Amino acid sequence: MNLNRKITLLFVCVALGILVMLIAISLYAFRSYSIASSTAHVRTAAEVVRVHLTEAMIHGVIDKREQFLERLMEVKGLHSARVVRSPEVTRQFGAGLLRELPADEIERLVLADGKARYILTDELGTPMFRGTIPFAASARGTPNCLQCHQVPEGSVLGAVTMELSLEELKRQALYTIAGLILTVGLFSFFAILIARRLILPVGRTAQAVEQAVERALKGDFKGEVACRTDDEIGHIAVQTNRLLGFLDDGLSRISGRVSQLTGRTPQADENQLETTIDMVNGLADASTFKQAIEEDETKAEIFDRFGQVLAERFDIRSYTLYDVTGPKQLDPVMVDGEAGAPCRWCDPQILVRSDMCRVKRSGHAVDGLARPGICYAFRSTTEGNEPLRHYCVPIMQSGSVGSVVQLVAPASQSARLESCIPYINVYLREMAPVLEAKRLTETLRDSSLRDALTGLNNRRFLEEYVDTLMANAHRRNIPLAVLLLDLDYFKVVNDTLGHDAGDVVLKALSGVLRQSVRASDMVIRFGGEEFLVVLQDAPPEAALGVAENIRSAVERLRTPVGGTMLQKTISIGVAMYPEDSETFWQAVKFADVALYRAKESGRNRVVRFTADMWEGHAEAY
Ligand code: GH3
Ligand code: MG
Ligand code: MG
Repeated sequence: MNLNRKITLLFVCVALGILVMLIAISLYAFRSYSIASSTAHVRTAAEVVRVHLTEAMIHGVIDKREQFLERLMEVKGLHSARVVRSPEVTRQFGAGLLRELPADEIERLVLADGKARYILTDELGTPMFRGTIPFAASARGTPNCLQCHQVPEGSVLGAVTMELSLEELKRQALYTIAGLILTVGLFSFFAILIARRLILPVGRTAQAVEQAVERALKGDFKGEVACRTDDEIGHIAVQTNRLLGFLDDGLSRISGRVSQLTGRTPQADENQLETTIDMVNGLADASTFKQAIEEDETKAEIFDRFGQVLAERFDIRSYTLYDVTGPKQLDPVMVDGEAGAPCRWCDPQILVRSDMCRVKRSGHAVDGLARPGICYAFRSTTEGNEPLRHYCVPIMQSGSVGSVVQLVAPASQSARLESCIPYINVYLREMAPVLEAKRLTETLRDSSLRDALTGLNNRRFLEEYVDTLMANAHRRNIPLAVLLLDLDYFKVVNDTLGHDAGDVVLKALSGVLRQSVRASDMVIRFGGEEFLVVLQDAPPEAALGVAENIRSAVERLRTPVGGTMLQKTISIGVAMYPEDSETFWQAVKFADVALYRAKESGRNRVVRFTADMWEGHAEAY
């Protein structure tokens, strides 16, 4: 119910209340007045009758009393008048007229106890007042009643019963009440009119404020509340407009800044406030994400964390995170939350021919949501009956594509995926510099652990990796074989053919070593022309077998240097951990001892370490 209706209802209720009260009071007053005035009238009339009867008695014309009463009836408002004779008078003067006998109980009571009785009747809608008043004998009056009546002082001689019609009074009362109703009604009508007029601006302002608040809840603060009066209500309108203006200005500034950062502009039909809150939340989350990835050690950890964000924050479960690992290589570091899983959403050819990837080639985002089929490398499979769509975006590092993020969704989810993209871009922007820094660190680290000439890991790498290696061996309870290798008479190559020729031989040798061992084994350039091979899970016979293979492969190797084919041999010392040694480094030492023995005993051979060899060498170490 609006304010106007409430005010009208209030006034109507008040008016009705007042009216009911006034009518009740008026009716009561009229009734009291009617009774009082009728009582007085009846008393007066009774006294007149008494005086007349007394006079008639004195003048001997009491017989004419009947005419007197009939004449009396002509008095306006007097409905009936009767005289009743008491038993005492009847006893003394005989029975009077028949109609002078008591007609009802009231008259009998009045004659018996001498007390007047008054009653109000309303027969057939005609209000009547009836009074029965006794005449008492008194010696004090003039004339002295007891001179004629032989009755004791105060005896009841008779009574007069009169009925007055209150019709006129009733009409007057009804007129008064009608006047009251009319007056109160008119008063209320004008009061309501004035109140409504006064309250109208309040209602309209309240409605306008309500509408403005509703629009504000939908993110639109542009509403204007019209100021209709120069009172508190008008002030509410003015202050509401100030508040709306302030909020609108604040929101558009925040929204503008946030749009710049997210690259997303809220649409006109969107709730601007909610969208801005979403964007601010997205930025805050991305900032937290950046702090977290800055503390991550490797790129793999960063990709893993980003995969979690895709799944948990954006509910994207199908995606690939590619890392550019070479001029033509892509590595699918994370596929659908699985690290190192095979390429699932693209033609695997792109892993070795990265230019097939449109994003890698162009350095721009590829929107397969808006333009399905834009990328030929995307495997356009279906999920259920739905075709799949993709959106791929590059992460630029040092001016070129460092990584590629591929998001995949069924066609029906395209719109949802599209709405996530501005937010995902914020994450990618935060990730790019961190990935670049990590890539640089990893490259530097890699170069410090790798030998530039042969591409093999160096001694420093072994020193860093040895703990992991040993922990792995202990956990799996596997033996390790350490092979220490040294080219025979290598100095001669340098001396006769030059240092570059020596380098060529070293490169060729590293190739042979790599090919001679399993992927899980390790080949290290240990020193100048010394190499160390660690074989995992190789018992002594197997280790000696591998060593022998290497030796014979080197012997068979012909390296083209300076127009000739160079042939070199190699000596190899072998020691076992834990069979021969207590620590890994001790095994290396023992392999060195065995190598020394191989050199000593003529070179181009494999020698397995035995405890007795150490005896001769202990003091040398
Ligand atoms: P042995 O059979 O006793 O091992 O004789 P050797 O001539 O090989 O003697 P040694 O192992 O002491 O010689 C090591 C030589 O390897 C010395 C050095 O000139 C050469 N050398 C070490 N590092 C490199 C390198 O990176 N490139 C080249 N070209 N030569 C290297
Ligand atoms: Mg040497
Ligand atoms: Mg040598």
